[in-house]
Amino acid sequence: MSENTEIATQVKRRRTFAIISHPDAGKTTLTEKLLLFSGAIQIAGSVKARKAARHATSDWMEIEKQRGISVASSVMQMEYRDCVINLLDTPGHQDFSEDTYRVLTAVDAALMVIDAANGVEPQTRRLLQVCRARGTPILTFVNKMDREVQDPMSVMDEIERELGMAVVPFTWPVGMGKLFHGVYDRREERMRVFSPGEDKAGGDDEILSGLDNAEATKRFGAEFTQAQDELELLEGASPEFNREEFLAGRQTPMFFGSAINNFGVQEVLDALVDLAPAPADRPAMQRIVHPDEKKFSGVVFKIQANMDPAHRDRIAFLRVASGEFTRGMKLKVVRSGKEIRPNTVVSFMSQRRELLDTAFAGDIIGIPNHGVLQLGDTLTEGEALQFTGLPFFAPEMFRAVEVADPLRSKQLRAGLTQLGEEGAIQVFRPIAGSLLLLGAVGQLQFEVVAHRLEHEYGVKARILQSNFNLARWVTCDDANELKKFMDANAHRVALDAVDAPTLLVDHSATLRAVEQQWPKIKFHALREHA
Ligand code: GDP
Repeated sequence: MSENTEIATQVKRRRTFAIISHPDAGKTTLTEKLLLFSGAIQIAGSVKARKAARHATSDWMEIEKQRGISVASSVMQMEYRDCVINLLDTPGHQDFSEDTYRVLTAVDAALMVIDAANGVEPQTRRLLQVCRARGTPILTFVNKMDREVQDPMSVMDEIERELGMAVVPFTWPVGMGKLFHGVYDRREERMRVFSPGEDKAGGDDEILSGLDNAEATKRFGAEFTQAQDELELLEGASPEFNREEFLAGRQTPMFFGSAINNFGVQEVLDALVDLAPAPADRPAMQRIVHPDEKKFSGVVFKIQANMDPAHRDRIAFLRVASGEFTRGMKLKVVRSGKEIRPNTVVSFMSQRRELLDTAFAGDIIGIPNHGVLQLGDTLTEGEALQFTGLPFFAPEMFRAVEVADPLRSKQLRAGLTQLGEEGAIQVFRPIAGSLLLLGAVGQLQFEVVAHRLEHEYGVKARILQSNFNLARWVTCDDANELKKFMDANAHRVALDAVDAPTLLVDHSATLRAVEQQWPKIKFHALREHA
């Protein structure tokens, strides 16, 4: 084992996480501030620039121009204290897609940002469901305390209800809005006094120690007294932090602050280092893979088309699961048996170049390719391993697609097959009828697909409304029963990209009726990549 010590040391230093939030809660701002604290100030500017570009237009053509930036900034690597932190971007609502879900399979923790005025919002709720299903540990940051917001007790209650897990406040706000005076750190037993300002780095904040602090009581009056009362209440009412509970996704540490004022951010960054887990074991079909094994392995969790549509360049995002990656090493794509030797690896943003040449468990590598790599692919130094757990979610929106020029229907199918492999869209072939169906979790996915079919495959496709709104993959231990089910429901069963039968219905009442009628059939909202 001794030869693995260097790898083990590197793995221990890694923290890989994503920020989940509803648009406008402050994800971009917080990302910038985290980068600022870790010393990567230049990068912070480009996060803002990217968001500005995205907001300037919702037109896909324009978004496409931004692809270069978005590839580079979809993973940000920073060093803080002794750790290497990988922050994975989860796109906001405008480009909400299945990618967003899959990114969450590549992280070891999530940071949930909540707008203190709005509480838990729909987008956050969707992403939370994925985290919860995977038992991903969640840290919570309650943002915008410099505004008139909900009182902290009710925010806490709401989070507790929505998450279905215990909330453990690490910091507690003293006042809010114009009367926001700072946050009290319950573990350090001291208050960090709020001062507005965008560019301060935090180290020079005023600190007042203890809850029985005469100066604080005098300066902050009623707000401080109220915080005192609430903190006393919390002592009895909220559970002690227990790291095992947190790692199992049953407790979330909560922090208050104001990202734009760079306030309360340091505590979050420290918590990521101190509390969030280093990369852990990952299950493959054949065996469990340990992160500090000597041999390299990794899994493709996202594929992104690159800038030049004519070349069909794609970048495969790979999460390292074990071993050490070095540029130019020989890797085997287990599914196809093909060997690749990635020399040009996409450099993600990082303040230190040397971080880019080697990668360890938890790190993300971007490998440009022309379709050799597919979603869910496992890469190894030769061992036949297949990682499990890359999910396909039952789409929530459906469209039928037909080609304007019937002579190009072959191109349509070819294009859709490739876009399906990339994970840009899910394609279903109804067992009765000839129109293909597209399934997505976000509206933009349809626009992207129509645009790319035209520009990359020369197919003008018509995207038509469909009556379906819900899908469930169906399986049954009894093959005859499954066949009976498919025959009886031929008008609403389709096959997906890997020929898995799928039931499509208009709404949940119909689904419930079908479920009751066919008790032996299993209905799945999620299919794992096999
Ligand atoms: P995102 O959509 O989640 O990435 O949100 P942004 O980071 O772009 O923030 C949305 C808006 O909220 C922007 O106008 C920010 O300036 C503002 N904002 C972010 N953090 C704070 C905060 O702590 N206080 C206040 N008052 N505004 C904030």
